[in-house]
Amino acid sequence: MGLNDTPQSERIHIGFFGRTNAGKSSLVNKITNQDLAIVSDTKGTTTDPVYKAMEILPLGPVVIIDTPGFDDDGILGEKRISRTKLVLNKTDVAVLVVDLVEGMAATDEQLIKLFEEKGIPYIVAYNKADLKETVSAGKPNEIYVSSVTGKNINELKEMIARAGLQKPAPAPLISDLIKPGDTVVLVIPIDSSAPKGRIILPQQQVLREILDTNAIAYIAQDTDLPQLLANLKIPPALVVTDSQVFGKVSKIVPKNIKLTSFSILLARHKGFLKSAVKGVWAIESLEDGDTVLISEGCTHHRQCEDIGTYKIPKWLKEYTGKNINIETTSGLTFAEDLTKYKMIIHCGACMLNDREMIYRTKCANDCGIPMTNYGTAIAYMHGILWRSLEIFPDLIEEQ
Ligand code: SF4
Repeated sequence: MGLNDTPQSERIHIGFFGRTNAGKSSLVNKITNQDLAIVSDTKGTTTDPVYKAMEILPLGPVVIIDTPGFDDDGILGEKRISRTKLVLNKTDVAVLVVDLVEGMAATDEQLIKLFEEKGIPYIVAYNKADLKETVSAGKPNEIYVSSVTGKNINELKEMIARAGLQKPAPAPLISDLIKPGDTVVLVIPIDSSAPKGRIILPQQQVLREILDTNAIAYIAQDTDLPQLLANLKIPPALVVTDSQVFGKVSKIVPKNIKLTSFSILLARHKGFLKSAVKGVWAIESLEDGDTVLISEGCTHHRQCEDIGTYKIPKWLKEYTGKNINIETTSGLTFAEDLTKYKMIIHCGACMLNDREMIYRTKCANDCGIPMTNYGTAIAYMHGILWRSLEIFPDLIEEQ
């Protein structure tokens, strides 16, 4: 994906599923007009999901995911099945590719059951329509296609777009909290954990929404914040800070000025803020020997490593005074068994789409394990959570 493209976490995720020989990868190639997946006659060549960003109109930017064949053949097959299930957790629209000649198999039905359980809108594309006489598919979400002749490929794209448009838009980051002409101050410390030569994704996205709102943004490091505030003739409508320096910034920004953090805004955008605030209370009941899971959404550790593996464990021990065990996971895998944890502290999830975060929250809820996120936990342990939530009075009332 190029630097100027919509970030992957903001794109609608379209997953292609089906058995190895259903012609899934060829169909994906036909739709994307490129040799995206490795296609081979040897069964099982595509062993990892392959991601490709593209535009599907009128849906807009999407990510097409070509998944490994969903067959039931031994240990390797089992691994593929579990990886396929991981992809399902982030899938907004599923396309089940069925071999028209062979017909629907038990594994295809198993996939449909999974889509339905997870509430994922799906389309059944019967492929290889060049090999068999067809009339028209029976149900509104079924279609006969051919990746060889191109039959009904455009119609399939339109069906995907219609299914994708059903997805409710995520909450904005900041645009509903400010109005045109407002001044917003962004505090971005440039320390050793800041990536070289750029600002991180949530900060870029907040900045973009401020500009889209025709509001005015000022950006400073925490060290230069007093100077910036002194320079402003009219106090800013809102200050948004990196959560790692929230404690320091909250002392600098006068109480009459609203203050929050990028993580709080991002958690709301991902549909996760309410449960993060509810889950944070679990810090109070941590005891000696309890295990806390710190989970990160990607393996791009550069910008979060220090927070997850050093700062949060340190603050947790200082705040609670307890001897707490910390375990960490990162990337696609969340954790197979959550029951051994007393609570989960998740990263800001800037690389994960909202569906994946909703799924992770549900896994934790289903096991009765409280889950919060970095920004909420940091604000709580520094005694400034309520101040950072003042911009969401409804949420405070609910607590
Ligand atoms: S997904 Fe999580 S671990 Fe990865 S950069 Fe974003 S906040 Fe950090």
